Order: sequence, then structure tokens, then C-alpha cells
Amino acid sequence: MKKRVFSGARPTGRQHIGNYLGAIQNYVALQDEYNCIYCIVDIHALTTLESTDRLQQDIHEMMLDWLAAGLDPKKSILFVQSHVPEVMELYTLLGMITPLGWLLRVPTFKEKARMQPQNVNYGLVGYPVLMTADIVLYKAEVVPVGEDQLPHLELAREIARRFNSLFGDTFPEPQAKLTPFPIVAGLNGAQKMGKSYNNVIELAATPEETKKLVMTAVTDPARKYRSDVGHPEVCNVFSLHRFFNTGQVDEIASRCRSADIGCVDCKGLLADGINKTLVPLRERRASFAARPEYVNEVLVDGAKRAKTIAKKTLAEVKEKMGLLLRGV
Ligand code: SF4
Repeated sequence: MKKRVFSGARPTGRQHIGNYLGAIQNYVALQDEYNCIYCIVDIHALTTLESTDRLQQDIHEMMLDWLAAGLDPKKSILFVQSHVPEVMELYTLLGMITPLGWLLRVPTFKEKARMQPQNVNYGLVGYPVLMTADIVLYKAEVVPVGEDQLPHLELAREIARRFNSLFGDTFPEPQAKLTPFPIVAGLNGAQKMGKSYNNVIELAATPEETKKLVMTAVTDPARKYRSDVGHPEVCNVFSLHRFFNTGQVDEIASRCRSADIGCVDCKGLLADGINKTLVPLRERRASFAARPEYVNEVLVDGAKRAKTIAKKTLAEVKEKMGLLLRGV
């Protein structure tokens, strides 16, 4: 029997190549080895969103990219968190056994509170409990995480453990599947690629848009003139060549070091590499985008399948917590 994997991602709309290389590719690869459940966590998004006007559009765009990248509803359950409201009930119940001190010391809570002092809402504090509910509702055994997310998963494991010790063995303690999530540098070279930094290349960008964006990328600051030799190891563009021009990496590095290639031409090569790599994905995306009803069907079916598991777990939890009438 294949183990069950759960992973959730916030609805951030059109996905960019950082999302693709850092997470989506890995999601796709896990589908054959595990029973995967992938969820767009819209309730989590409410803890930080200033407006929900774009929420539905963002969910739709994100799912288009997931499907285009190869997430397959025949292999995996793909759904939206709020479509299975059982998660909110479990969140409330787990909240009753989670010491507040555990939550207040979570570094991301402190960071979010600092970033949005005007909106330090209750949901921010409870975030790890909702995350735990997401995972244990489906009795997931494996959660793909990057090293930076390990503390969150450890907290989920602690909450699951506490429930099991109070009410009997119920939840598997989810194990981390440490995945080499590469940190993809943003075009400005200052931060990792992320929409909030305005330094991304979206998967759905046209080849022309891609090229235009790549041309804005920051390179080795030591290369002021075409004749200056470069240092690919500090260059943001070069780090992307590693993903999109794998066969030419050594050659590009050597041509950069000897000033045999200028940054404009080098960026042109990168844009070509990205565009070539993404041709099949972009074609699939366009075909899914032409059938919005299909995307909805995937999500409705995914929620139905997720709900079947969720209902069973929730009934077990409520029974163990003494919330169901006995003998009736
Ligand atoms: Fe970067 Fe390429 Fe310019 Fe070298 S030639 S600094 S690798 S963009």
C-alpha cells in the first residue's frame, strides 16, 4: 500500500518558475510513488490577504499551472481547502489541546505579526493548528518540506502526538520528506523569486515576455564592460542556466570567465532555454485554460474524494473526544 502524502500551497495565482522548480516539479514526481493529496489552502490565505477580490481567479490560475505541469487528477487528489469544511471543525478541536505557548513561539507568527502590525489576527496564531488539521485530517504519513519548514512540521507532529496520548492512537505522526527545494533567485538578484518582490517569470508568460523579463535580470556586478571577465558563481542568470540549459552550463561558465560572451547574449541563451523547456507546459496550460469547466470538475471531484477521507477521520476524532452520542 502506497503511503499518503499531503501538501498545501497558498493560492498565489499564476505560478512562476521559482514555484515550478522549488515545489511543483517535486509534487509531480511524487505522484507515482505515493498517494498524493495536494491542496490549495485558501483559508490560510485569509490570514494575510488584504482583499479577497482575486481569490477565485488566483485559485483557478494556480490550478491551471498545476495541471499543465503534470499534476494528474487520476493519480492525485487536487482540491481547495475550504471545499472540505471538516478541516475547520478539526482545527477547532485540535485548538483545544494545543498549548498557546507552543504557538506563540513559532518564528513565522512573530515575523507575520511584524510584517502586518495592523492585522495581527487570531488566525495567524492558530496557523500551525490549521496546518496540522490539514495534514492529520487525511492521516497523511509523509509531508514534503524544505528545511525551513521543518519546525512547522515538528509542531504538527507534537500536536498529533498529544492527541494520540490523550485520546488513543489516531493519527500517524507525519514524517518530513526532505526535498532539495532549490532556492531560485529572483530577477533582481536581491531575494528569492517571489511575487511580492516583483522579480518573477511566470510559467504562463509568452516567449516575448519571458525574454523581456530575462533582459532585466541583475548579473555579476563586477562586469561593468563587455571586456570584463565574469564570475558565474555570483550571477543570478547563471543560476537559472543550471535549470534551463543544463547541457551548456560548463561552456557558459567558461565563456563568462573569459569574457567570450557578453551578458546580453548570455541572457538571450537563458530566455531561449526557458522558452524551449516550457513549450509543452505552456501548450497544455492553454488547452486547460480553454476549458475552465474542466478545472472546476477536477476541483469538485477532488473535494468529494478528500471529503470521504475527512468525514471518516472527523467521526473517529469526535467519538474519541466524547462528542458523539454513544449507543444510539
Ligand atoms: Fe552572468 Fe552570463 Fe553575464 Fe556571466 S555572461 S555575468 S553568467 S549573465
